[in-house]
Formats: sequence, C-alpha cells, structure tokens
Amino acid sequence: MPTIFFDLDGTLYPGENGMWPEIKRRIGTYMTERMGIPPEEAARLREHYLVTYGTTLRGLQRHHHIDTDDFLAYVHDLPLERYLTPDPALREALLRLAAPRWIFTNSDAAHARRVLRFLRLEDCFEGIIDVRSLGWLAKPEAGAYQRARALAGNPPPETCVLVDDSPRNTAGARRQGWYTVLIGPRPDPEAADEHAFSLREWVEEWGRRNADRRPLTIDRRPLTTDG
Ligand SMILES: [Mg+2]
Repeated sequence: MPTIFFDLDGTLYPGENGMWPEIKRRIGTYMTERMGIPPEEAARLREHYLVTYGTTLRGLQRHHHIDTDDFLAYVHDLPLERYLTPDPALREALLRLAAPRWIFTNSDAAHARRVLRFLRLEDCFEGIIDVRSLGWLAKPEAGAYQRARALAGNPPPETCVLVDDSPRNTAGARRQGWYTVLIGPRPDPEAADEHAFSLREWVEEWGRRNADRRPLTIDRRPLTTDG
C-alpha cells in the first residue's frame, strides 16, 4: 500500500491565492525590521537561502542569530480566512483514499494546523511532519525525506508518494526513489512522474484508479493533464 505525503502551502490550497507572496513579504519584513538587514540584502538572502537550503529559515539559522519560534510566529501571522476556502469535494476525496496520508511541510506544525483547520481538513491526515520534527532539515535535502519516512513508520521508499507544488521538492523525492506528483500550472516531466492542475483533480483521479480499495499498488499511468 502506498503512503501519500502531501505538501501544505501551495498544494492543499491553490498557490496563486496570494498567501505565499504575503508570507514571503513577511519573511522580508522580519529580516529588515527585526534583524536589521538592509532591504536589498534581505531580498537577495531570502532567495539565496530558499534555493540553497530549501527554506529561508534554514539559512537564517545557519548564518545568523535568529529566534526560530519568533520568526515562525511572525511570518505566519496572517488572516487565513482571507486566503483559504474549504473545498468539501477535496475533503471527501481525501477521506476516500485507501492509503495513509501525511502532511509533509517545510513550514511548522502550528501554521499547518491552522491551515488545515481553515480548510476543514484537520482529520484527513495521520499527522503533520513539519520542519521541527525533521530536525530543521527541509525538502529537497535527502535527509528530510528519510526522516519523513521514519516518522511515518518506515514505509519503503518505492511505496512513498509525494504530492507537492515545488518541482525542486518532487525532484528531491524522486532521487530517493519515491513516486512524485507535481501540482500546479505546468507539468515538469524532469521533476515529477505525474502532473495535475489541482490537488482535488489528482486525488479524485487516484481514487478512481484505486476504487476497489484492495491493497493499493502504485499505478504509474501518467495523468494526461498537460497541454
Ligand atoms: Mg508548497
């Protein structure tokens, strides 16, 4: 049976809903206002750390003195109701999936719990694997996937599925032998085995493919959603 790991931000809700740019903006403000880094340098470092370490936070932890709890609380302090709309059909489709489901996020569990609550999905997952439980490792570092598997009860890599809106993250999972699904506007066959425009579309399709609920095998037929 597969174990399905779902990214949170940009995957459980549409990436273009405006929330991620706002989180990014708050990361920038944190760096300039609380840490005193000049704005241009902050913008550069934010992207540099994100690309180098998977999260800006990881770079800040390595190269600066940073109060991690304060940082995480600050950047996620958003009016979530402005960005998030529950999708009852997604909820139903998730609950029908005959596979253990985990949240696997580079964010922290407090943010993940709030997002899940606003989306009414808090009971759809076995648990939340967050950047804290990963010991501050982050996708796409190899160790993050290994640790996530361990936290999910050690399913073999070839039975693990990552559903994520970041090609960097799916590519990282693929290198670990996982099956990968990219959610978003563009397919990227280099980075992921499958592509779907929305999470609901993919979950419903996966459910149809495995409708008999027998012990599931991973079906490598690609979704034909490109073009
Ligand atoms: Mg994401």
